[in-house]
Amino acid sequence: MESLQLKKAFKEIYDAEPILVKSPGRINIIGEHTDYNGGLVMPAAINKAVYVAISKRDDSEIHLFSESYQEKYTGNINNVKIADKAWANYILGVVDGFLKRDFPLSGFNLYMYGNVPLGAGLSSSAAVECATAYALAQLNQFAVSKMDLALIAQKAEHEFAGVNCGIMDQFASVFGQRDYAMMLDCRSLAHEYIPLKLDGYKLVLFNTNVKHSLSESAYNERRAQCEQGVAWIKVHYPSVQYLRDVTEEMLLEYVKPKNNETYTKCSYVVAEIARVKRAAIALKDGDLDELGKLMFETHEGLSKAYQVSCKELDFLVEQVKDLADVLGARMMGGGFGGCTINIIKEEEIDQLIQKISKAYLHEFDLVLSAYIVETGNGSKIIETATIAEHTP
Ligand code: ADP
Ligand code: MG
Repeated sequence: MESLQLKKAFKEIYDAEPILVKSPGRINIIGEHTDYNGGLVMPAAINKAVYVAISKRDDSEIHLFSESYQEKYTGNINNVKIADKAWANYILGVVDGFLKRDFPLSGFNLYMYGNVPLGAGLSSSAAVECATAYALAQLNQFAVSKMDLALIAQKAEHEFAGVNCGIMDQFASVFGQRDYAMMLDCRSLAHEYIPLKLDGYKLVLFNTNVKHSLSESAYNERRAQCEQGVAWIKVHYPSVQYLRDVTEEMLLEYVKPKNNETYTKCSYVVAEIARVKRAAIALKDGDLDELGKLMFETHEGLSKAYQVSCKELDFLVEQVKDLADVLGARMMGGGFGGCTINIIKEEEIDQLIQKISKAYLHEFDLVLSAYIVETGNGSKIIETATIAEHTP
């Protein structure tokens, strides 16, 4: 759907003149399960986004329409509560966030369209939240920083979707820049843009199209194990707050003797934070071989030590591991399903997608989806002058 069509669709429903904004999905190049440990991550925004058309109303009503679900929702600013439509909650959570911060919101009409694959680990939910936050801020000319928009969006995910996520997804959606990855310090929120120069190679995602139910319980268990490790070390080093502050030596001395499994989990996190730093250096040096090696190491760690992979993800990484045209591959996201992210030589991508899809179908009787990733810009207003380049 082009911007012009979005505007037209909005007008047909609401008979008003909207402003248009968009906010993208994201990938994460490296730095998995490090965010809630105060560590480093390296996301980049992609060129698939959620688009919002929005206008003010004279009353306090909230009117929402989702193009993807062909559904509407009607509510009121004076009584914002969790709805029984999941898609509406990501929007209402943001409304709630503005109200809790005492921003004066009046009623509005909103039409939403998106082409970020849903539930694939590209953070379509953050794209919805950030597009909504950005749209409301623009519509009302709120004096609010981009970081606060990301924080309001994150809180919406916590409180209206019940997902206790870190800040990475919303940060990437708001702050992304085409051709750049961002190294984000999840503790201080300091960040650095790193040119993503992949000459002759592209990032390709293979979507397992599975989501194993273990995901949520394992996530909570891992968080608890990380906190336990920190607690044991804190007795000896009171300044330690997160695994971010911990060294492998500390783990060997104070965690391993108490519980070997907790040690293994914490050790993965400490190693992964170090890998993000090495990956940033590799990217700056243009050393894609090194970046790829680090990604394989991350996968090994997530699969064997942290144990959040699954047979489908492991299979996809195994398939490309020894191919000269694939520099690196790893599972991306929380685990137990979703996508793998691969660095693949451009000319080989098509035939490799065919080959891997066939092998995947044969092994699991499941269809694989593949996405060739282009990076994109973060949240922004879509100006009339740039309509042409915003064809999804
Ligand atoms: P992910 O963030 O990895 O894509 P989630 O399960 O966190 O997966 O979020 C997916 C949910 O976000 C969808 O089920 C839907 O409720 C909402 N969503 C995402 N994109 C859209 C869209 N374009 N329109 C309406 N709702 C959307
Ligand atoms: Mg999500």
